[in-house]
Amino acid sequence: LFAGATDFLKGVVAMDGLPAPDRIEVCFAGRSNVGKSSLINALTGRVKLARASNTPGRTQEINFFTTTGGPYLVDLPGYGYANAPVKIVEKWQRLLKNYLSGRQNLRRAFVLIDSRHGVKKVDEEIMSLLDKSAVTFQVVMTKADKVKENDRAKMLEQVRKALSKHPAAYPELVLTSSEKGDGIETLRAIIAGLD
Ligand code: GDP
Repeated sequence: LFAGATDFLKGVVAMDGLPAPDRIEVCFAGRSNVGKSSLINALTGRVKLARASNTPGRTQEINFFTTTGGPYLVDLPGYGYANAPVKIVEKWQRLLKNYLSGRQNLRRAFVLIDSRHGVKKVDEEIMSLLDKSAVTFQVVMTKADKVKENDRAKMLEQVRKALSKHPAAYPELVLTSSEKGDGIETLRAIIAGLD
């Protein structure tokens, strides 16, 4: 499904730029620097597929990737920029809202949470938006290699508690490390199993 068969299709800045919903898709959301590009790269086995770009100007697009015979992988703009101009933030929030509420082939959103930081206010906001849009979402913990066993358990507890307030949340978390490869195969299997 993924290896060697993934390609960048296009970056979308407005609803009329979305590709035809002729196959299912999953999307990835997370705070900037959460490890989203690294995760997409690890999933697809393509080292530089998702540009590891953290500058506001380059992350306002919804980026579409194709997989051969499989779903679109959709990289949503990273959120939580304190410094982005209000007008730009409003524009992408509108696009995000429209995309999430109107995309009939969207099967699941993956909300990435840094294993060291847990669920933050902006994560809560995106989860509430997903609730409202009736998009089932699943949390992917990133950078699992950066936390010790004890801290990890505490963090998972915090995340599970936060998730219990969100009707659209899928209860099972996926622990990943793009660096070590942990959880990547599991996540691939989850995506491959959606229809
Ligand atoms: P993005 O802004 O969400 O796309 O985040 P990036 O994928 O660019 O990652 C942000 C930083 O975290 C980079 O320095 C990555 O090398 C680092 N990083 C990403 N994933 C992991 C991981 O699984 N383990 C470790 N140790 N570092 C990671």
